[in-house]
Amino acid sequence: MNAEYFCACCRAPFVNPHPLDEQGRCALCRRGLTGFDAAYAYGAYEGTLRQLIHLFKYDGIRTLAGPLAELLLAALPRQERFDGIVPMPLHWRKRWQRGFNQAKLLAEALSRRTGIPVLEAVRRRRATPPQAGLSNAERRRNVAGAFEVRRRIPLEGRRLLLVDDVFTTGATAGACAAALKRAGAERVSVLALARTDRRLMWLAPAQPRPQSMAIGAS
Ligand SMILES: [Zn+2]
Repeated sequence: MNAEYFCACCRAPFVNPHPLDEQGRCALCRRGLTGFDAAYAYGAYEGTLRQLIHLFKYDGIRTLAGPLAELLLAALPRQERFDGIVPMPLHWRKRWQRGFNQAKLLAEALSRRTGIPVLEAVRRRRATPPQAGLSNAERRRNVAGAFEVRRRIPLEGRRLLLVDDVFTTGATAGACAAALKRAGAERVSVLALARTDRRLMWLAPAQPRPQSMAIGAS
């Protein structure tokens, strides 16, 4: 990613400083639209990292969870303390199709390396249509209300690390973080292996969504 400037909050990359305010925040963070407090990723969703994530997620090479968790560990901010690692939930139907939740495998592997417990604190209430080809606002509407916090896990005052494989616009992570915060979490940071470049997304043409992909890859 050839970016010179990054949002101080969500670390979205920008080619020049104009989208950032005096505190270094992007427009979404400035307006409080992100839902989370910070977002970190190991690298850009391209090249070898993208290939590894595909092998892990779509080809089902689950043993990659360990090596990939090492990358998460490298991207984990040393200055933050966390009480729990929350895997980004998959809708049960998608988990059934894939056979596993890739975020849960990553969270467990990261937990073994850090000693921070995994808290399966949230679940998907409904399957969300694929986000590809949607604008930022459409993505936010798409995922609003998609998450439900499990009441038996106390979150009051907890500082949580929400783990996912890929961070796209942050709309899904933001909706999930907002649900965790409504349940009492004090702080929610997002950690992903890779992030897509928000600037490139604007350039991608909106594609008609085939019906067969009602439960899309995300
Ligand atoms: Zn931001």
